Amino acid sequence: GADAGYRGRFAPSPTGPLHFGSLVAALGSCLEARRHAGEWLLRIDDIDPPREQPGAADAILHTLERFGFEHDGPVLYQSTRHDAYRAAVDTLHDRGRVFPCGCTRKEVLSAGVPGVNGVLYPGTCRNGLPDGRSARTWRARVQGTITFEDRFQGAVVCDLEAEIGDFLVQRADALPAYHLAAAVDDMASGITHVIRGHDLLACTPPQRFLMEQLGGTPPAYGHLPLAVNPDGRKLSKQNMAPPLDDATPAPQLVAALDMLHQRPPADLGRAAVATVWEWALAHWTPDRLHGVAHRTITPASP
Ligand code: GLU
Repeated sequence: GADAGYRGRFAPSPTGPLHFGSLVAALGSCLEARRHAGEWLLRIDDIDPPREQPGAADAILHTLERFGFEHDGPVLYQSTRHDAYRAAVDTLHDRGRVFPCGCTRKEVLSAGVPGVNGVLYPGTCRNGLPDGRSARTWRARVQGTITFEDRFQGAVVCDLEAEIGDFLVQRADALPAYHLAAAVDDMASGITHVIRGHDLLACTPPQRFLMEQLGGTPPAYGHLPLAVNPDGRKLSKQNMAPPLDDATPAPQLVAALDMLHQRPPADLGRAAVATVWEWALAHWTPDRLHGVAHRTITPASP
């Protein structure tokens, strides 16, 4: 049924071309928005120039167009949002929710114990910079438990201190950290539903925490099953998942529908892109994804 004001988004990082895993996230978030007669926004997460690949943002937009995606409104580039991120860090500072940290990455890695997103910050600067140290980064001072009902994965309960720790909101190069930028922009864009890959599930508690500390109401979240290699590792730019092929969108869309348990007919991959979308919009059955976290695919097959 139509939800008044449903607004979803897809937020790729321009660190390389889109691959099959990103197609699954784009398709799932878009179909879910359309099913609710909602909007689907596009954001380019270009806050990390050192990791960016020149031309990747344009290549991503071109690929999405070739694959038949239609986004609502202008594309939001995070590189244009630095004032908003700075203002958010200031607000969090005024509220005592962030602290300056003088630790290097190496110090944190060697002193911290493992958490779900990497090591837990050992707390060195939490209650003030030790003598002789100056601020390099800013960290969130976490506390409490984040609880939410994931659209696909069910109840999520996260003890922030035990599982996440005091995470970065501003890096040593003064750039905003991913959690901060994502939380600020999802709120500022009025996103009501974040549908994305299961690999980002552990990012949701810290992002919801920041939204609450900034006085906002977090959106609803749904984490889609992740495409993994036969060896169990996720398909990503890092492990060289092949980029999407702009020349053959239909069969790759159909493979993504199959990955999302939508049971597309065998010959749909030979149809026009518009026909694939018609079928997908008419048959989208997201309830089949309940509790599905991973699905093994062979990278060569789509
Ligand atoms: N840009 C990030 C990524 O591509 C985050 C996406 C998101 O928050 O949905 O992994």
